[in-house]
Amino acid sequence: MGWEANRMMGIWRLVLAVLLWWGCWQSPAAAVPLKVVTTTSDLASLVTVVGGDRVSVSSIALPAQDPHTFEPRLTDVQQLRSAQLVVKVGLDHDLWLDRLTQESGNPALQRGGERYVDVSTVIPLLEVRSVSLAPSDGHNHGAGNPHYWLDPLNADAMTGIIAAALAQIDPESSKTYEANRLAFLATLEQKVAEWQRQLAPYQGVPLIAYHNSYPYLARRFRLKIIDFIEPRPGIPPSPSHLTKLLREMKDEHVPVVIQELYESDRVPRLLSNRTGAAVVTLVSSVGAIPEVPNYLSLFDYNVHALATALGRTKV
Ligand SMILES: [Zn+2]
Repeated sequence: MGWEANRMMGIWRLVLAVLLWWGCWQSPAAAVPLKVVTTTSDLASLVTVVGGDRVSVSSIALPAQDPHTFEPRLTDVQQLRSAQLVVKVGLDHDLWLDRLTQESGNPALQRGGERYVDVSTVIPLLEVRSVSLAPSDGHNHGAGNPHYWLDPLNADAMTGIIAAALAQIDPESSKTYEANRLAFLATLEQKVAEWQRQLAPYQGVPLIAYHNSYPYLARRFRLKIIDFIEPRPGIPPSPSHLTKLLREMKDEHVPVVIQELYESDRVPRLLSNRTGAAVVTLVSSVGAIPEVPNYLSLFDYNVHALATALGRTKV
Protein backbone atom coordinates (compact mmCIF):
# COMPACT_ATOMS: atom_id res chain seq x y z
CA MET A 1 0.00 0.00 0.00
CA GLY A 2 1.47 3.34 -1.00
CA TRP A 3 1.85 6.45 1.09
CA GLU A 4 -1.16 8.11 -0.59
CA ALA A 5 -3.42 5.11 0.12
CA ASN A 6 -2.30 5.05 3.79
CA ARG A 7 -3.07 8.73 4.12
CA MET A 8 -6.55 8.20 2.60
CA MET A 9 -7.23 5.32 5.01
CA GLY A 10 -6.21 7.55 7.92
CA ILE A 11 -8.56 10.31 6.79
CA TRP A 12 -11.42 7.84 6.35
CA ARG A 13 -10.86 6.43 9.84
CA LEU A 14 -10.95 9.93 11.27
CA VAL A 15 -14.16 10.76 9.37
CA LEU A 16 -15.74 7.51 10.56
CA ALA A 17 -14.78 8.18 14.19
CA VAL A 18 -16.23 11.70 14.03
CA LEU A 19 -19.46 10.35 12.47
CA LEU A 20 -19.79 7.66 15.15
CA TRP A 21 -19.17 10.16 17.93
CA TRP A 22 -21.71 12.57 16.40
CA GLY A 23 -24.23 9.75 15.94
CA CYS A 24 -23.95 8.67 19.59
CA TRP A 25 -24.23 12.22 20.77
CA GLN A 26 -27.31 12.83 18.60
CA SER A 27 -29.05 9.55 19.34
CA PRO A 28 -31.92 10.03 21.84
CA ALA A 29 -31.25 6.52 23.22
CA ALA A 30 -27.91 7.72 24.52
CA ALA A 31 -29.45 10.86 26.03
CA VAL A 32 -30.11 11.14 29.75
CA PRO A 33 -33.45 9.38 30.45
CA LEU A 34 -36.46 11.42 31.54
CA LYS A 35 -36.97 11.18 35.28
CA VAL A 36 -40.53 10.13 36.10
CA VAL A 37 -41.96 9.63 39.60
CA THR A 38 -45.24 7.73 40.02
CA THR A 39 -47.27 7.25 43.17
CA THR A 40 -47.70 3.49 42.64
CA SER A 41 -45.73 0.59 41.22
CA ASP A 42 -48.56 -0.19 38.78
CA LEU A 43 -48.20 3.23 37.15
CA ALA A 44 -44.40 2.83 37.19
CA SER A 45 -44.77 -0.44 35.28
CA LEU A 46 -46.89 1.25 32.61
CA VAL A 47 -44.53 4.24 32.32
CA THR A 48 -41.69 1.75 31.73
CA VAL A 49 -43.78 -0.02 29.07
CA VAL A 50 -44.26 3.27 27.16
CA GLY A 51 -40.93 4.98 27.87
CA GLY A 52 -38.58 1.99 27.64
CA ASP A 53 -34.95 3.04 28.11
CA ARG A 54 -35.81 6.70 27.51
CA VAL A 55 -37.25 7.02 30.99
CA SER A 56 -36.04 6.30 34.48
CA VAL A 57 -39.03 5.59 36.73
CA SER A 58 -39.41 5.36 40.47
CA SER A 59 -42.58 4.93 42.52
CA ILE A 60 -43.36 6.23 45.99
CA ALA A 61 -45.88 3.88 47.67
CA LEU A 62 -44.63 0.45 48.67
CA PRO A 63 -46.62 -2.16 46.70
CA ALA A 64 -47.20 -4.60 49.56
CA GLN A 65 -48.39 -1.94 51.98
CA ASP A 66 -51.92 -0.90 52.88
CA PRO A 67 -52.62 2.33 50.96
CA HIS A 68 -54.69 3.64 53.91
CA THR A 69 -51.73 3.75 56.25
CA PHE A 70 -48.99 4.73 53.79
CA GLU A 71 -46.67 7.42 55.16
CA PRO A 72 -44.39 9.14 52.63
CA ARG A 73 -40.72 9.59 53.57
CA LEU A 74 -38.35 12.54 53.30
CA THR A 75 -36.51 10.79 50.47
CA ASP A 76 -39.75 10.94 48.42
CA VAL A 77 -39.57 14.77 48.48
CA GLN A 78 -35.93 14.56 47.39
CA GLN A 79 -36.89 12.32 44.46
CA LEU A 80 -39.54 14.82 43.36
CA ARG A 81 -37.09 17.76 43.34
CA SER A 82 -35.36 16.40 40.26
CA ALA A 83 -38.41 14.74 38.61
CA GLN A 84 -39.54 15.90 35.16
CA LEU A 85 -42.97 14.26 35.36
CA VAL A 86 -45.21 12.99 38.13
CA VAL A 87 -47.97 10.42 37.49
CA LYS A 88 -50.66 9.56 40.03
CA VAL A 89 -53.70 7.30 40.40
CA GLY A 90 -55.87 10.18 41.63
CA LEU A 91 -59.19 10.17 43.52
CA ASP A 92 -58.48 9.34 47.18
CA HIS A 93 -55.80 6.75 46.48
CA ASP A 94 -52.73 8.98 46.73
CA LEU A 95 -53.90 12.21 48.34
CA TRP A 96 -50.52 12.48 50.06
CA LEU A 97 -48.85 13.36 46.73
CA ASP A 98 -49.94 17.01 46.78
CA ARG A 99 -48.19 17.67 50.08
CA LEU A 100 -45.02 16.06 48.74
CA THR A 101 -45.01 18.04 45.47
CA GLN A 102 -45.54 21.26 47.44
CA GLU A 103 -42.61 20.43 49.69
CA SER A 104 -40.48 19.62 46.65
CA GLY A 105 -40.75 23.26 45.50
CA ASN A 106 -41.05 22.17 41.85
CA PRO A 107 -43.96 24.29 40.47
CA ALA A 108 -44.49 22.24 37.26
CA LEU A 109 -45.23 19.19 39.41
CA GLN A 110 -48.04 20.79 41.42
CA ARG A 111 -51.67 19.79 40.90
CA GLY A 112 -52.77 21.41 37.63
CA GLY A 113 -49.13 21.92 36.52
CA GLU A 114 -48.03 20.76 33.06
CA ARG A 115 -45.87 17.94 34.44
CA TYR A 116 -48.60 16.55 36.74
CA VAL A 117 -50.63 13.65 35.33
CA ASP A 118 -53.74 12.45 37.17
CA VAL A 119 -54.56 9.23 35.31
CA SER A 120 -58.06 8.96 36.84
CA THR A 121 -59.15 11.86 34.59
CA VAL A 122 -59.18 9.58 31.52
CA ILE A 123 -60.91 6.56 33.14
CA PRO A 124 -64.64 5.83 33.14
CA LEU A 125 -64.96 5.41 36.92
CA LEU A 126 -67.12 2.99 38.89
CA GLU A 127 -68.98 3.75 42.12
CA VAL A 128 -68.91 7.54 41.73
CA ARG A 129 -71.05 9.04 44.48
CA SER A 130 -72.33 12.59 44.58
CA VAL A 131 -70.95 13.24 48.08
CA SER A 132 -67.37 14.39 47.88
CA LEU A 133 -65.21 13.88 50.95
CA ALA A 134 -62.49 15.94 52.55
CA PRO A 135 -58.86 14.77 52.17
CA SER A 136 -58.81 13.87 55.88
CA ASP A 137 -61.41 11.19 55.18
CA GLY A 138 -58.59 9.23 53.60
CA HIS A 139 -58.97 6.16 51.45
CA ASN A 140 -62.71 5.66 51.42
CA HIS A 141 -63.52 5.73 47.68
CA GLY A 142 -65.61 8.90 48.12
CA ALA A 143 -65.07 10.23 44.59
CA GLY A 144 -65.20 6.88 42.79
CA ASN A 145 -63.45 3.55 43.18
CA PRO A 146 -59.72 4.24 42.58
CA HIS A 147 -58.62 0.64 41.87
CA TYR A 148 -59.16 1.07 38.10
CA TRP A 149 -55.73 -0.31 37.05
CA LEU A 150 -57.16 -3.75 37.92
CA ASP A 151 -59.20 -3.78 34.71
CA PRO A 152 -56.46 -4.69 32.20
CA LEU A 153 -58.30 -2.92 29.38
CA ASN A 154 -58.01 0.37 31.29
CA ALA A 155 -54.31 0.16 30.40
CA ASP A 156 -55.27 1.51 26.97
CA ALA A 157 -56.34 4.90 28.38
CA MET A 158 -53.65 4.80 31.09
CA THR A 159 -50.78 4.31 28.63
CA GLY A 160 -52.45 6.87 26.33
CA ILE A 161 -52.20 9.73 28.83
CA ILE A 162 -48.69 8.61 29.85
CA ALA A 163 -47.48 8.55 26.21
CA ALA A 164 -48.96 12.01 25.58
CA ALA A 165 -47.24 13.45 28.68
CA LEU A 166 -43.87 11.92 27.75
CA ALA A 167 -44.19 13.14 24.15
CA GLN A 168 -44.84 16.67 25.35
CA ILE A 169 -41.55 16.73 27.24
CA ASP A 170 -39.61 14.77 24.59
CA PRO A 171 -41.35 15.30 21.18
CA GLU A 172 -38.51 13.65 19.25
CA SER A 173 -39.32 10.31 20.90
CA SER A 174 -43.10 10.53 20.45
CA LYS A 175 -43.14 7.88 17.69
CA THR A 176 -41.11 5.50 19.88
CA TYR A 177 -43.49 6.01 22.81
CA GLU A 178 -46.52 5.31 20.63
CA ALA A 179 -44.87 2.26 19.03
CA ASN A 180 -43.96 0.86 22.47
CA ARG A 181 -47.51 1.46 23.64
CA LEU A 182 -49.15 -0.21 20.63
CA ALA A 183 -46.89 -3.27 20.87
CA PHE A 184 -47.82 -3.62 24.55
CA LEU A 185 -51.55 -3.20 23.86
CA ALA A 186 -51.40 -5.89 21.16
CA THR A 187 -49.89 -8.36 23.67
CA LEU A 188 -52.36 -7.27 26.32
CA GLU A 189 -55.33 -7.90 24.03
CA GLN A 190 -54.22 -11.51 23.50
CA LYS A 191 -53.66 -11.97 27.21
CA VAL A 192 -57.11 -10.59 28.09
CA ALA A 193 -58.71 -13.17 25.79
CA GLU A 194 -56.69 -15.88 27.55
CA TRP A 195 -57.67 -14.61 31.03
CA GLN A 196 -61.31 -14.42 29.98
CA ARG A 197 -61.18 -18.06 28.88
CA GLN A 198 -59.66 -19.09 32.22
CA LEU A 199 -62.34 -17.34 34.27
CA ALA A 200 -65.33 -18.01 31.97
CA PRO A 201 -66.53 -21.07 33.95
CA TYR A 202 -66.87 -18.94 37.10
CA GLN A 203 -68.98 -16.06 35.81
CA GLY A 204 -71.62 -15.05 38.33
CA VAL A 205 -70.25 -17.22 41.17
CA PRO A 206 -70.79 -15.20 44.40
CA LEU A 207 -67.58 -14.06 46.14
CA ILE A 208 -66.68 -12.10 49.28
CA ALA A 209 -63.68 -9.72 49.20
CA TYR A 210 -61.77 -8.09 52.04
CA HIS A 211 -61.45 -4.54 50.65
CA ASN A 212 -63.40 -3.13 47.70
CA SER A 213 -60.32 -3.39 45.44
CA TYR A 214 -61.75 -5.47 42.61
CA PRO A 215 -64.88 -3.93 41.05
CA TYR A 216 -63.01 -3.23 37.79
CA LEU A 217 -61.50 -6.72 37.67
CA ALA A 218 -64.91 -8.23 38.51
CA ARG A 219 -66.68 -6.28 35.77
CA ARG A 220 -64.12 -7.23 33.13
CA PHE A 221 -64.26 -10.94 33.95
CA ARG A 222 -67.94 -11.07 35.02
CA LEU A 223 -67.15 -12.06 38.58
CA LYS A 224 -69.77 -11.39 41.23
CA ILE A 225 -68.45 -9.90 44.48
CA ILE A 226 -71.49 -9.75 46.75
CA ASP A 227 -69.99 -8.23 49.93
CA PHE A 228 -66.82 -7.13 51.72
CA ILE A 229 -65.19 -7.99 55.04
CA GLU A 230 -64.70 -4.25 55.54
CA PRO A 231 -68.19 -2.75 55.93
CA ARG A 232 -66.73 0.44 54.41
CA PRO A 233 -63.26 0.84 52.82
CA GLY A 234 -60.64 0.99 55.59
CA ILE A 235 -63.11 0.15 58.40
CA PRO A 236 -62.60 -3.20 60.21
CA PRO A 237 -65.63 -5.51 60.56
CA SER A 238 -67.82 -5.45 63.68
CA PRO A 239 -69.19 -8.71 65.17
CA SER A 240 -72.64 -7.91 63.70
CA HIS A 241 -71.10 -7.40 60.24
CA LEU A 242 -69.39 -10.79 60.53
CA THR A 243 -72.71 -12.42 61.47
CA LYS A 244 -74.28 -10.84 58.37
CA LEU A 245 -71.39 -12.10 56.19
CA LEU A 246 -71.71 -15.66 57.55
CA ARG A 247 -75.43 -15.67 56.80
CA GLU A 248 -74.85 -14.36 53.25
CA MET A 249 -72.11 -16.90 52.61
CA LYS A 250 -74.32 -19.79 53.67
CA ASP A 251 -77.43 -18.52 51.83
CA GLU A 252 -75.56 -17.77 48.59
CA HIS A 253 -73.09 -20.70 48.79
CA VAL A 254 -70.02 -18.44 48.50
CA PRO A 255 -67.10 -20.77 47.63
CA VAL A 256 -64.17 -18.30 47.87
CA VAL A 257 -63.14 -15.35 50.05
CA ILE A 258 -60.65 -12.90 48.50
CA GLN A 259 -57.97 -11.85 50.99
CA GLU A 260 -55.75 -8.73 50.70
CA LEU A 261 -52.02 -9.28 50.94
CA TYR A 262 -51.50 -6.62 53.62
CA GLU A 263 -54.44 -7.53 55.89
CA SER A 264 -54.45 -10.08 58.70
CA ASP A 265 -56.00 -13.37 57.59
CA ARG A 266 -57.80 -13.82 60.94
CA VAL A 267 -61.27 -12.87 59.62
CA PRO A 268 -60.98 -14.68 56.26
CA ARG A 269 -59.86 -17.83 58.15
CA LEU A 270 -62.78 -17.49 60.55
CA LEU A 271 -65.25 -17.21 57.64
CA SER A 272 -63.56 -20.14 55.93
CA ASN A 273 -63.71 -22.34 59.05
CA ARG A 274 -67.38 -21.61 59.58
CA THR A 275 -68.55 -22.03 55.97
CA GLY A 276 -65.99 -24.24 54.23
CA ALA A 277 -65.16 -21.50 51.70
CA ALA A 278 -61.57 -21.32 50.40
CA VAL A 279 -59.41 -18.22 50.99
CA VAL A 280 -57.43 -16.87 48.04
CA THR A 281 -54.98 -13.97 48.37
CA LEU A 282 -55.01 -11.71 45.33
CA VAL A 283 -52.29 -9.18 44.63
CA SER A 284 -53.50 -5.68 43.86
CA SER A 285 -50.16 -4.09 42.93
CA VAL A 286 -47.12 -4.85 40.79
CA GLY A 287 -44.07 -5.80 42.85
CA ALA A 288 -45.98 -6.78 46.00
CA ILE A 289 -44.64 -10.33 45.61
CA PRO A 290 -41.72 -11.56 43.45
CA GLU A 291 -44.08 -13.51 41.14
CA VAL A 292 -45.63 -10.21 40.01
CA PRO A 293 -42.81 -8.07 38.58
CA ASN A 294 -44.91 -6.18 36.02
CA TYR A 295 -48.41 -5.25 34.86
CA LEU A 296 -49.09 -8.35 32.74
CA SER A 297 -47.91 -10.75 35.44
CA LEU A 298 -50.27 -9.06 37.91
CA PHE A 299 -53.20 -10.52 35.95
CA ASP A 300 -51.46 -13.79 35.12
CA TYR A 301 -51.04 -14.34 38.85
CA ASN A 302 -54.51 -13.21 40.00
CA VAL A 303 -56.42 -15.00 37.25
CA HIS A 304 -54.52 -18.22 37.89
CA ALA A 305 -55.02 -17.94 41.68
CA LEU A 306 -58.75 -17.29 41.33
CA ALA A 307 -59.34 -19.96 38.69
CA THR A 308 -57.41 -22.51 40.78
CA ALA A 309 -59.34 -21.70 43.98
CA LEU A 310 -62.69 -21.74 42.18
CA GLY A 311 -61.77 -24.88 40.24
CA ARG A 312 -61.28 -26.78 43.49
CA THR A 313 -64.74 -25.91 44.78
CA LYS A 314 -67.99 -27.37 43.54
CA VAL A 315 -69.62 -24.40 41.80
ZN1 LIG B 1 -59.40 1.12 48.05
